[in-house]
Amino acid sequence: MKLYGSYKQNPLLEDKYDVILIGSGLGCLTAAVFLSEQGKKVLILEKHYTPGGFTHTYTRNDYEWDVGVHYIGEVHRPQSIMAKLFHYIAGDELQWADMGEIFDRIVIQDREYSLHKGKANYIEQLKRQFPLEEDHIAIDKYIQAVFDCTKTANNFFAEKAMPNYISMFVGNSMRSGFLKHAQKTTLEVLQEITDNKELIAVLTAQYGDYGLPPSKSSFAIHATVVKHYLSGGAYPVGGSASIFNSIAKKIIDKGGKVLVSAAVEQILIHKGKAVGVRMKDGKTISANIVISGAGLHNTFKKLISDDELKLQSFKKQISNLKSSYGHLSLYIGLKYTADELGLNKANIWYYPNGNDHDQAVQNFMSNPMENEFPVVYISFPSAKDPKFSERYPGRATIEIVSVIPNDFFEQWNDTRWKKRGEDYEDLKEVLAQRLLKHLYRFVPQIEGKVDFYELSTPLTTKHFANYQRGEVYGLDHTPERFESKFLKPSTPISQLYLTGQDIVSVGIGGALMSGVLTASAILNTNLVEKVMKS
Ligand SMILES: Cc1cc2nc3c(=O)[nH]c(=O)nc-3n(C[C@H](O)[C@H](O)[C@H](O)COP(=O)(O)OP(=O)(O)OC[C@H]3O[C@@H](n4cnc5c(N)ncnc54)[C@H](O)[C@@H]3O)c2cc1C
Repeated sequence: MKLYGSYKQNPLLEDKYDVILIGSGLGCLTAAVFLSEQGKKVLILEKHYTPGGFTHTYTRNDYEWDVGVHYIGEVHRPQSIMAKLFHYIAGDELQWADMGEIFDRIVIQDREYSLHKGKANYIEQLKRQFPLEEDHIAIDKYIQAVFDCTKTANNFFAEKAMPNYISMFVGNSMRSGFLKHAQKTTLEVLQEITDNKELIAVLTAQYGDYGLPPSKSSFAIHATVVKHYLSGGAYPVGGSASIFNSIAKKIIDKGGKVLVSAAVEQILIHKGKAVGVRMKDGKTISANIVISGAGLHNTFKKLISDDELKLQSFKKQISNLKSSYGHLSLYIGLKYTADELGLNKANIWYYPNGNDHDQAVQNFMSNPMENEFPVVYISFPSAKDPKFSERYPGRATIEIVSVIPNDFFEQWNDTRWKKRGEDYEDLKEVLAQRLLKHLYRFVPQIEGKVDFYELSTPLTTKHFANYQRGEVYGLDHTPERFESKFLKPSTPISQLYLTGQDIVSVGIGGALMSGVLTASAILNTNLVEKVMKS
């Protein structure tokens, strides 16, 4: 079955669709399944030549890497909401490989800790690594705080899909429980619990999963991520592209269409109502409903014309929400199998500067060439994927991710991909070598065996995912973000809806839920309830 076509090759388009979705990220894909199931004719328009948003993979020199999926929580527990939702939208074809007992290794300079799967086990193993009685009390309090926060999340997010006339009466009470936790920073909550800086550093070591250090991030995102991985990590069998491949089949089965190389230039609005889109080549396509999964800033700053009066105050509110940091990803290929190289499934979170994550980020962001990376995240996809060797026999891959200021490569903003010049390539090489040096510390056996590596920068993210500041995770997960009531599917423009990480949270879980919420808002049904009952 052909899963997608190219817009550039003159696809057969209908005059009008029920729903046009901008972007083929997981939020749009999820919404498209639910909407097409209800008989809506959907068209997904993706700017990139590969579909899937951050779930897509890229190949080079006979290697394949994930660009935005390293591990996912909950999906390998069949009774969890995540597993059930994924099963509903992707069917049996999408399978998950459990990463095993230890899913994250945390290394602070030369001190190593590990996170173990399963709530009781996670707590017990953490206490083993922090043997003092006072630390045990702190760990118990901390886990309680994580659960106190996350148990209020369902109401908070469900409110986003409610029609305004209901939300007017019950909205504030549905939001208030979660907001109480979201308004505090992660550091504030942790400092109320313990003054052991090393323990705080370990408990917040997954901050890279949401992109903001403890003094800046909302405790809500921290608690959400920690709870998400409490039952361990899992990896999509066949690599992250299997997420799109399995979901797209469902959409196409119901008559939906996915087009790549299909950049939307403008959302067409007539008398305050979205009526379709204009493509980069000037062609217009009509629709009863337009859903944008292209990110909040993209949608309102780039895709909607400035003279939309209805949006003036809305746009002002939006400009208060900052984009997340940029990131570097180093993609590495080796002509040996993961087994031959002795690569493990567990991710490594390395903190070369010590246990003050905030100071490390501040130092690095002020001068990346003089200061050490604040965090180096290392993932071993070929060790995690039981089918990797079937697709790429005799090969292994590794991915390293770190942060970088959004504007670090600003001087090359106006250059073209692959043609940015020698000085850009030289700078990338320096950064790549710095990352490789850290990698060899953990897997010295691969030194001298690396066959291929390539570094992506915020300019790569901008080019391929269209995030204008090259931001890694859309909007920053600050307390202000969670206070922004307008981050929800419906917008001030009638028949224009939002989906994707910006309206829920970063992550495969957040994007999945965003699609469910957007479809729920459009169909005026609680789809989570429907799926859980099915
Ligand atoms: C380096 C990295 C590592 C990550 N690791 C993990 C992980 O291990 N686990 C996890 O759970 N999450 C991870 N994430 C986060 C997760 O991948 C994202 O939060 C999620 O996939 C975002 O989904 P989305 O629906 O918001 O859409 P996105 O994936 O952001 O896709 C948006 C799509 O819209 C398209 N688009 C934009 N503008 C236009 C336009 N004008 N016309 C047409 N199309 C347009 C873009 O090209 C893009 O394909 C990671 C992200 C990154 C960057």
